[in-house]
Amino acid sequence: MDKNRLFRKIPKVDILLENETIQKMMEYYGREVVVDAVRSATEQLRQVIGRCTDETEAEKALETLPAEIEKKAASMSLPHICPVMNGTGTILHTNLGRAPISQDQIKYIGAVASGYSNLEYNLERGTRGERYAHFEEILCKLTGAEAAIAVNNNAAAVMLILSSLAKGGEAIVSRGELVEVGGKFRIPDVMEQSGASLVEVGTTNKTHYSDYEEAIGEETKVLLKVHTSNYRIMGFTETVPVAELVKLGREHDLPVVEDLGSGVLFNLEKYGLSHEPTIQESVQAGADLVCFSGDKLLGGPQAGLIVGKKKYIDQLKKNQLMRALRVDKFTVAALDVILRDYLSEEKAVEKIPVLKMIARDADSVKKNAQKLCRQLKKQELPATFKVEASEAQIGGGSLPAEYIPSWAVTIQSERISVEKVEERLRKMPMPAVCRTADDKIWVDMRTFDERWIPLFVKELKEHQVLES
Ligand SMILES: *Cc1c(COP(=O)(O)O)cnc(C)c1O
Repeated sequence: MDKNRLFRKIPKVDILLENETIQKMMEYYGREVVVDAVRSATEQLRQVIGRCTDETEAEKALETLPAEIEKKAASMSLPHICPVMNGTGTILHTNLGRAPISQDQIKYIGAVASGYSNLEYNLERGTRGERYAHFEEILCKLTGAEAAIAVNNNAAAVMLILSSLAKGGEAIVSRGELVEVGGKFRIPDVMEQSGASLVEVGTTNKTHYSDYEEAIGEETKVLLKVHTSNYRIMGFTETVPVAELVKLGREHDLPVVEDLGSGVLFNLEKYGLSHEPTIQESVQAGADLVCFSGDKLLGGPQAGLIVGKKKYIDQLKKNQLMRALRVDKFTVAALDVILRDYLSEEKAVEKIPVLKMIARDADSVKKNAQKLCRQLKKQELPATFKVEASEAQIGGGSLPAEYIPSWAVTIQSERISVEKVEERLRKMPMPAVCRTADDKIWVDMRTFDERWIPLFVKELKEHQVLES
């Protein structure tokens, strides 16, 4: 094979840029984008030719150059982040953006964000206002706390709290609660960043009241409790309930802080999950500050919500870090809207997608599985489709030992490997991320929105996901 001849067939960039088709692309995508696409596509072609061992393959790559340029220009103009169909059965999938927000909620948030708003303007008085004021009252009403603020995420909340209350001093925490919650967020590291030093007490499985008591000294500034949201220690265990810590804190005039991680506003037991401590319980037990994520079980935007005593919230507001960690208008609007859906539990379960997915009875999940399965079977595709019992989970480091009964459509191709199917599903225009097990694809219908059914079927067919 004469590679030099093939290399010479690659058109020069300048020549390509004069080409009529390319000129048209420039009108559409803009000159810069197309010039980049031309450079990158020709470079890619050079590499393909360099690697290839078969002349027809090289000829084919040469022929598809204009299409490749267009593809690159188009992909550059399109946003990279895109909606995906979640067939994993993991409700709070951290890699898939955790909590989805409903269309109704988004409509309001969009209206606020697309124009000007009273983000920091008091319309009542015509003076400067506070961004936290929009949701503080409702958050206090829901949790029973005196005051509330929010920062970018719960990791930031923990850092802000410790920096404000314990910088230069010590924070006491149980060894059984030194969690890593994913994304390298480790409680001990965050504490260090905040300028507080960590005093670990107790052992992995047992920490007693007296362990905290004995550790309190001159430098102690905070008693911290961390909800071990993403793992469970079974068997011979003991932890000190927050109410007990509060008693100890009062005796020594020390604030008690609880990081609840997920943060739920009502009991999830009636939906078949085990008890997850609610924010109200912690506030009621007397915790001075309680922090939790906005986008875990709360079902809202990424945020770290902090509720508690006004005295301490005021202290947080004065911390310089607050400026760096503050939430933007999207988050403020989202919290404002979503928290209001919590005014009644029935409304919350109906309107907040995360809660809706949790609360949904298995029969209605099964109905959707049957609907998807029927429509797939109608297409006469080379695969076996079945409705099978499955298990969904909460995810996002919440309730790790819990599985929610669910139903899935399983797909087993007659022609290609399950890995190949999984890959093609991921590469559809609206990608579908699913589980693979037992040599089959599992589309878990607890997280798979009913609205995606026709689209999924259409894409599966048009993109020849199951063809060899
Ligand atoms: C998830 C979690 C965090 C971190 O929250 P983000 O909102 O993801 O920053 C902190 N503490 C606990 C206990 C958690 O479960």
